[in-house]
Amino acid sequence: VKKLKKIIAWVAKNPLTTMRAILAMIIGRRIFALTKVEHPSVVRSYKNDVLEPLEKFKDNWNLKEIGKSEEGFPIMALEPKDFNQDKENILITAGVHGSEPAGLFSLLKNKELLSHSDKNVYIIPCVNPWGFEYNKRYTKNEVDVNRQFKEDTENSNAQCVMSYLKGLNLKFEYTIDLHETTQEDIRNEGFIHLLNSKLPIEDGAFIYQTVLNKEKELGSHIVKRLEEEEIKVTSWKEIWEEPCINGTVTYPEARVSIMYSTSGTLEDFCANHLTESAITAESMGYESLEKRMKMHKIVMETALNK
Ligand SMILES: [Zn+2]
Repeated sequence: VKKLKKIIAWVAKNPLTTMRAILAMIIGRRIFALTKVEHPSVVRSYKNDVLEPLEKFKDNWNLKEIGKSEEGFPIMALEPKDFNQDKENILITAGVHGSEPAGLFSLLKNKELLSHSDKNVYIIPCVNPWGFEYNKRYTKNEVDVNRQFKEDTENSNAQCVMSYLKGLNLKFEYTIDLHETTQEDIRNEGFIHLLNSKLPIEDGAFIYQTVLNKEKELGSHIVKRLEEEEIKVTSWKEIWEEPCINGTVTYPEARVSIMYSTSGTLEDFCANHLTESAITAESMGYESLEKRMKMHKIVMETALNK
């Protein structure tokens, strides 16, 4: 108690120094969080870790090369062999950001789930293969593919995905794009917000969705399933300055952030051309890969069983 009294007296005498110390602690903590490596740099091989496992999908899907990435890697798609036009169509995409591999790994691991679905399941497992190999969010030319899904893009990854999807000439019940929240997001786009506590740095998973038909809203169902399976969902009320309600940022209502209103995301393209319910699922980058893969499995499962 004596010590505490001493401290209080000191603080009262030195308010400025105390404030400086507190501020330094807050900034220090944030910088420390930003420097943590959430995905240890492992050498990955697109050929061995993606193309080879995809061969196993050939029982149920046609495996097709739909174009080349900026760096010349083949971009692949899976089309259901037993396509039935009376069934609903689902599109699942992953690997748009190369440093967010859990969605892609979850796809590759859950062939059974995907093949026993009652829907026609289309898959583009890895939109940015170079990023996957080098564990980078962007392409080799520092292009964020998830801002390139617009007519005048010069990025070949986005070009081939868009023309392939348009060429299918299908409507999808849901489109699901699998992502992860990583420290890299903040490093690349949010350094200016260093003191903003509302950024998704170390909280749970969340969902972006564009809902054009309220009956097809899926985000709240995904969040419910995640909570049932004890996957932490974010408690934050804002993500990148946009309102987040119950772990879900729902467009077009929520579109207030400049970053996303300039758009060109795959979710945006899907909502404009393919579906009334486009989802982007964000797992929590600081958790173990296993747990993040489980999160993505639950997302896919919810869409497939709905
Ligand atoms: Zn991402």
